[in-house]
Amino acid sequence: MTGVQNAGFCPACFSLVETWTPGPGGRPRASCPVCHSLERHRFLASILYDFRLWLCTCRAVLEYAPQPQISVLLKKLAGAATYVGSDLIDLRFATVAADACSMPFQDRSFDLAISFHVLEHIPDDAAAMRDLARILVPGGLAIIQVPHRAGVPTDEDINASPEERTRRFGQHDHVRYYGNDFQQRLEDAGLETQYFSAIDVYSSEKLERWNVPKSHPIWLARSC
Ligand SMILES: [Zn+2]
Repeated sequence: MTGVQNAGFCPACFSLVETWTPGPGGRPRASCPVCHSLERHRFLASILYDFRLWLCTCRAVLEYAPQPQISVLLKKLAGAATYVGSDLIDLRFATVAADACSMPFQDRSFDLAISFHVLEHIPDDAAAMRDLARILVPGGLAIIQVPHRAGVPTDEDINASPEERTRRFGQHDHVRYYGNDFQQRLEDAGLETQYFSAIDVYSSEKLERWNVPKSHPIWLARSC
């Protein structure tokens, strides 16, 4: 059997995918050829889709460092909510230019905040986490992902050179690589947090079809 019967599926753009295309750095089989979603976008898109009934009840949703592979679906699923996309540096997809450590919003403004691959860029991540807890409504949800290594503490150096950042943290503009203490950092900021890997949430058949690794991590955090 070939073709549609064996095709993958991109939950970010709802396309059947016969061949996944290379991602950043030429990483093979990473990207959706239609919407260019990566594994992390497809994992998040699946979770948002499963939350769609709740998203209908949201009044305001925030996406830090907005990415079209997520924004399009989020706006569709949370259509009645006010959408804010916030970034300090890359304003291509942002609706607001703002510092994640001091967002220009009142306390308790958002039902949902998405923080995907943001905190590893921010020197004072504790301030960003506290501000995230501040702007969520009581019981509001944050969906968070960062580069993470299990079994070791966070490796960080906000003064490292771009070359050293690339070597230690995987990218020239990352200031740390999170480890075992990541969840505690969120808790210390006032966020009640649970960790899941993709296989905790979805079957191996679904993950294979979506081309999402079983070990892909996610943290769900609630303001408390
Ligand atoms: Zn796609």
